Amino acid sequence: MKKDQMKLIFEASSSNEAFARISVAAFMTRLNPTVEEVADVKTAVSEAVTNCIIHAYEGYERDRPVEICCTVQDGEIEVQIRDFGVGIEDVALAMEPLYTSKPQLERSGMGFAFMEAFMDALEVESKPKEGTCVRMKKKIRASQTKGD
Ligand code: ATP
Ligand code: MG
Repeated sequence: MKKDQMKLIFEASSSNEAFARISVAAFMTRLNPTVEEVADVKTAVSEAVTNCIIHAYEGYERDRPVEICCTVQDGEIEVQIRDFGVGIEDVALAMEPLYTSKPQLERSGMGFAFMEAFMDALEVESKPKEGTCVRMKKKIRASQTKGD
């Protein structure tokens, strides 16, 4: 299958969270995923986008862009979700299951753990005051070439 790509840029607001996960789900249908595979990717995207909404732009009033870049190739989907917000001081600590910087908001600290569980690969790059990029990959097992 040929490599194909899409990019989305939207404001980090909770009203865009469903839009983001549904857009990625629609883009991956060309890989003929199972219902479960689509649900896994939607959950992972939802967690990453929610982190941009809740954590990345704390104290920012507007201009809170989130960029999603999605690539499909050889039966695999790669999703990159990037923000330009506060960044993460200690990525290894942030990725530990149950770690949250916002226990007062009743966050459970399981977002990264879910991304890791539902996808095949997860990489997080972050710089304080510059932002965060989450890169995730998943092989779509049921994948058959469609169209080309
Ligand atoms: P939950 O996802 O269970 O509601 P959570 O968001 O706190 O809780 P994770 O998604 O695992 O848990 O994230 C862990 C921590 O990493 C967050 O508490 C936050 O401090 C930091 N973090 C995650 N994503 C970002 C981001 N995009 N920008 C800044 N900080 C982030
Ligand atoms: Mg989270």
